[in-house]
Amino acid sequence: MSHEGIRISSKEQKVREAEENQPLPRIAVTPEKVRVLLTEGKGMEIDWADGHKSKWSFAWLRAACPCATCEQERKAEGRAPGQPQPRPAELLPMYTPPAKPASAQPVGRYAIQFNWLDGHASGIYSWDYLRRNCQCQECAFAGSETSGAPN
Ligand SMILES: [Zn+2]
Ligand SMILES: [Zn+2]
Repeated sequence: MSHEGIRISSKEQKVREAEENQPLPRIAVTPEKVRVLLTEGKGMEIDWADGHKSKWSFAWLRAACPCATCEQERKAEGRAPGQPQPRPAELLPMYTPPAKPASAQPVGRYAIQFNWLDGHASGIYSWDYLRRNCQCQECAFAGSETSGAPN
């Protein structure tokens, strides 16, 4: 039995990790316009200095909270940032209101913070983190293309 497949995939993994750790160009993490669509309850949109336009839903942002507690929780459950917590199948599922912040404020020049209606507010969303996790159609498509497309 050959272990070649395992060696190759771990090598690919290393390359991918190296790419993820590369700093993004400054213009890719410099927001020109930040729109938090609070009244619409839709989410956040950012126009970057490099021309890219990103958007995230509030549900995604809440499930991608970068605070240490949420990060640990995700790690323990094997969830990616933005992936909602699996809920047990119930006959009559309880209604949970969609995630929405009461307010949002900038943190220095590098990040934004949300005060979620559920009381959580410890996540600092850096521009870098947001850009790397851009949920626009283009980036979401590119992400699904590289990870696990059957051939
Ligand atoms: Zn959190
Ligand atoms: Zn994008």
